[in-house]
Amino acid sequence: MSPHIPSIDFYAAYARFNLPVVPFDCGARCAPHNPSGKPFCCDICQAVPSAYHQEWRFLKANTDLWHIWRGDECLANPEDPQALAAETPDTMRLLACLGPAHCQREYRSLSCRQFPFFPYITPDYAFLGLVYNWEFEDTCWVISNLGLVSPDYWASFVRFYDDFFSTWPHELEHYANRSEEMREVFTAQNRSIPILHREGGYSLLRPINGRLRAIDAARLPRYGVYQELE
Ligand code: SF4
Ligand code: SF4
Repeated sequence: MSPHIPSIDFYAAYARFNLPVVPFDCGARCAPHNPSGKPFCCDICQAVPSAYHQEWRFLKANTDLWHIWRGDECLANPEDPQALAAETPDTMRLLACLGPAHCQREYRSLSCRQFPFFPYITPDYAFLGLVYNWEFEDTCWVISNLGLVSPDYWASFVRFYDDFFSTWPHELEHYANRSEEMREVFTAQNRSIPILHREGGYSLLRPINGRLRAIDAARLPRYGVYQELE
């Protein structure tokens, strides 16, 4: 039997999850390091946004900001949309927007609002806090400056996904799989996972056994060009 797919009020969802990750434009910190001059997460050559099927229907009815990703939007590196679609959860589809010069912030997708984070799910299915998309360690300025994440954003992220998972428990599975993938990657590299704990505070999580060690944000690692920069 297919899992229940709830209808979701995206006007209300977007209103509840609308705070910036840091209290200034972090795009101004990363864009100078992208040859295209765009913030990395808004550059279709660097990241392809996704949206739930219900979310896509909502967006299509309300804005011209988005279209279904064709794969040819990045002129320098066209891709086969079927290949990436095969790696996309069944509940989602890949989209492309008009680009950062034409962003309509009120119609940013959930994937834009959560970036660079996703909810970390333990092997016994507890939502423990925020972890980052490790593929963007060298490019996303926020990942090298986790100490500057707004506490209000952090709290709203936890509230939003607590509500979301209670409305749609099946979606916990998607993030459980992503968390498992992160544990495998970090275990292979003998690294701990930095986590913004749902109760507040920063910790390093040993992926092999789930042990947490509190850490001062100033001691968290920095990556790429951001190792040397403020
Ligand atoms: S979230 Fe990261 S990649 Fe996106 S604009 Fe901010 S610093 Fe750049
Ligand atoms: S909708 Fe806005 S925030 Fe989202 S990827 Fe496009 S430009 Fe970036």
